Amino acid sequence: MKRLPEHVDFVVVGAGVAGLRAAIALAEAGKVLVLAKQELSESATQYAQGGIAVALSDEDEISLHLQDTISAGDGIVNADAARVLVEEGTERIQELIDWGTEFDRHGTKLTFTREAAHSRSRILHAHGDSTGREIGRALQAKAASLKNIVFSEFEFSAGLHVESGRVTGVELITAKGSLHLVSSSAVLLATGGAGHVYSNTTNPDVATGDGVAMAYAAGAEISDMEFVQFHPTALYLKNAPRFLLSEALRGEGALLRNDQLDRFMAKYHEAGELAPRDVVARAIAHEMEVSRAKDPVVYLDMTHLKADHIKTRFPRIYATCLQYNVDLTVDQVPIRPAAHYLMGGVRTDLHGRSTLPGLYAAGEAACTGVHGANRLASNSLLEGLVYGARAGEAMREQLSESEPAPGRLEVQPAAGDSNTDVEQFIRDVQQLMWNKAGIVRTRQGLTEALHELKALGEHLPLPFTRRNCEARNIHTAALLITRSALARLESRGAHYRTDYPAHDDAKFKKHSIVTEKGVRFE
Ligand SMILES: Cc1cc2nc3c(=O)[nH]c(=O)nc-3n(C[C@H](O)[C@H](O)[C@H](O)COP(=O)(O)OP(=O)(O)OC[C@H]3O[C@@H](n4cnc5c(N)ncnc54)[C@H](O)[C@@H]3O)c2cc1C
Repeated sequence: MKRLPEHVDFVVVGAGVAGLRAAIALAEAGKVLVLAKQELSESATQYAQGGIAVALSDEDEISLHLQDTISAGDGIVNADAARVLVEEGTERIQELIDWGTEFDRHGTKLTFTREAAHSRSRILHAHGDSTGREIGRALQAKAASLKNIVFSEFEFSAGLHVESGRVTGVELITAKGSLHLVSSSAVLLATGGAGHVYSNTTNPDVATGDGVAMAYAAGAEISDMEFVQFHPTALYLKNAPRFLLSEALRGEGALLRNDQLDRFMAKYHEAGELAPRDVVARAIAHEMEVSRAKDPVVYLDMTHLKADHIKTRFPRIYATCLQYNVDLTVDQVPIRPAAHYLMGGVRTDLHGRSTLPGLYAAGEAACTGVHGANRLASNSLLEGLVYGARAGEAMREQLSESEPAPGRLEVQPAAGDSNTDVEQFIRDVQQLMWNKAGIVRTRQGLTEALHELKALGEHLPLPFTRRNCEARNIHTAALLITRSALARLESRGAHYRTDYPAHDDAKFKKHSIVTEKGVRFE
């Protein structure tokens, strides 16, 4: 096994689409260490099914993709960031194809599917429903061919090393459990999302908000944390994970039915099953609430679609459901919403720069404002590519500006409760967040959540193991979500409050920024 270096030019924390693409951009300038806290193959990127949005089909235009992205974001998309996304997206996709990504085609022509809130068919997919895995494979192969990139799996980044107000490295809990400091001229956080703040999530286990928590602890600004996207359709079976049933299924004609097997979406939105995600998630939550069932669910119905088409278009979803004795072609599939995507994150400019010198962020861990209050489906893989590349380019410039001295790891006396049952602590936070800061929010629920999180904060586990650090990070992310959600006295995008059901553009057509001092809007 290779020894971990003590100094590299660049540290990239995360080996999903954003981290890999950034590493490729950095490799020409210096030595890059790419860290993953589990296997390289364990990231949200690897599970992305539906596809990647890009305006490349004959019927499409970049301006339409921009317009759809801005409409989905419900008034607060950073238009400059969205323009960069859709314009540079086409180039980044072409590059992926040049590096060997096999998107699905009819003959030689790329095939594009349609998803909710897209005005055109613009979703590229690979091997039916394994788009993220195929993109990750191609990026990893490309990165592995560049001699300046070193990968290190099972290394847990526990904190940022800050000297004189500048981030100069990362502090790791190594695979063997020891502490180790790697210093570098710049650090990129590409740690993905925070789905495990909630008890129901489509996210893989790695999504515990580590990047956001590390950046916050180091003093960086964090933005738009109240905006958590809940995916409407996750498989809901006892003893099965909340496996995502892609939006593309509804794009291909799947229907939603309540427990009486009646269709209901027409009551909630003119686009029916293809309404924006937050509308569908809330509609399902409402149908479940009014249902008299003890353990309510709604159903996804594909029984009217051609069985062969389902099996070839969605081979991974079909096979996974079959493992749990659900046959998509004949069964009504029980589903519930689940936490899926964090629009907020480490606040960055259009080049991945956070508000802390030396610290960059890209992908789901970052917040450029590109998604506003709600992400347009299939825009996040694209975001990881475009902004990963941009962050990498910006970090290259940093190399000439600074030559950090090798840092020294000073172990601080840690506060925490050595008696805390860490798994129970995590479950308590997750349940609390699901019940009180989830799909539908109120001042009362959020206030209770804040009090309970503060009480749980008295029993934070000691930060000596990786799992304990994850528990602390989940708790930090939960606090940031709750504080931001309490401060936004309106409903917008994925943030829905029954006590403030409308927009308040005068006060809140803005991004939230949460710091130690409080939440401000700008
Ligand atoms: C089931 C599912 C389906 C999806 N489908 C789509 C889709 O069809 N289209 C789309 O555009 N988006 C989709 N998304 C969203 C999209 O996959 C993610 O937003 C995107 O892949 C995030 O990429 P990333 O590079 O930011 O992070 P990730 O791909 O999540 O990678 C995070 C990396 O950070 C590492 N890491 C985290 N914390 C630490 C730490 N403390 N120390 C060291 N390493 C750490 C992890 O090990 C991992 O390597 C889906 C998400 C899920 C969960």
